[in-house]
Amino acid sequence: MALLDRAIVRLLPAVPKPVVQKLSSHYIAGSELSDACRVVKELNDDGKMATIDVLGEEISNADEARAIVAEYRRVFETIQREGLDSNVSVKPTALGLKLDHDLARENLEAVVRHAAESGNFVRIDMEDSSTTDDTLLIYRELRGAGLDNVGVVLQASLRRTVDDVWSLADLKPSVRLCKGIYVEPPTIQFRDYEAVRASFVKALDALLQTCAYVGIATHDEYLVDEGRRLVVEHGLQREQYEFQMLLGVRPRLGDGLVEQGHRVRIYVPFGQQWYAYSLRRLQENPKIAGYIASDTVGRMLRRNGSG
Ligand SMILES: Cc1cc2nc3c(=O)[nH]c(=O)nc-3n(C[C@H](O)[C@H](O)[C@H](O)COP(=O)(O)OP(=O)(O)OC[C@H]3O[C@@H](n4cnc5c(N)ncnc54)[C@H](O)[C@@H]3O)c2cc1C
Repeated sequence: MALLDRAIVRLLPAVPKPVVQKLSSHYIAGSELSDACRVVKELNDDGKMATIDVLGEEISNADEARAIVAEYRRVFETIQREGLDSNVSVKPTALGLKLDHDLARENLEAVVRHAAESGNFVRIDMEDSSTTDDTLLIYRELRGAGLDNVGVVLQASLRRTVDDVWSLADLKPSVRLCKGIYVEPPTIQFRDYEAVRASFVKALDALLQTCAYVGIATHDEYLVDEGRRLVVEHGLQREQYEFQMLLGVRPRLGDGLVEQGHRVRIYVPFGQQWYAYSLRRLQENPKIAGYIASDTVGRMLRRNGSG
């Protein structure tokens, strides 16, 4: 299967752009903010919250990073004007993390302060392991500056994650817990599927012990069940946690959680850079190509089956 996934990824650049666009349209709202707005409205109507992500390729200078800051300001204005139930997710490298730590911190601080003006919240996405220390440091710096409307992400597949939970405990952080999409060396990452699941459950339990607010971000039914079990065991009320999923991925699983009374937030990416973004994500983790291929075939079969 891994070989097939890698073969799909190698072939992708040869696939006509409109075909890639059609495939990615299930996972990306579109190229404009108005596309994200339409998708978020639909999600809100279905009882789901959202987090909007501005797709940006790796930036090469401070001006490009500032343009992303300005784009997020436009997103906050739109969320407020349209009355959407959505916060935002931000990638630190899009704000300059690979260029200069202080530049990235200043830009993130600007985004978090803009969010605060309309009572909104910023989730700092976690990228590959070369950025983990810096991202967590910036998060601590922002909290130290008195900014509380900001949260971070931890990746259960990293061996360090449970230690990170305990080292963040004094901040009572808001944490999105996910498996982690980046393929890292086995010295720092669990590769075995069950080991990643076990680490996820351990990290989630530790987070709830530290009274963190957790976004349980997974489409793995086993982990959704474990999440439901743990929030009951820790006696949490509905507002004290949420489940999170990606746009277009296993929507029925999210519907089921909403019906059971849980809060669900959907990650909604949009932007001009959808093509480069789609290719890069797939190259970073060929497993995703396999998921998309089987999902697409499944959808075609369902369509044909239902006439
Ligand atoms: C809201 C949210 C935010 C995230 N933010 C980050 C982040 O900041 N940093 C980071 O490293 N990772 C992030 N991720 C990605 C995450 O780390 C995983 O790579 C991804 O969620 C798949 O893991 P899983 O727990 O769903 O389990 P898996 O076992 O990988 O997936 C379970 C099933 O879900 C389906 N599925 C999962 N992912 C996809 C997909 N992309 N396309 C189609 N089908 C899919 C497949 O049917 C699969 O069998 C985020 C995920 C979510 C839900």
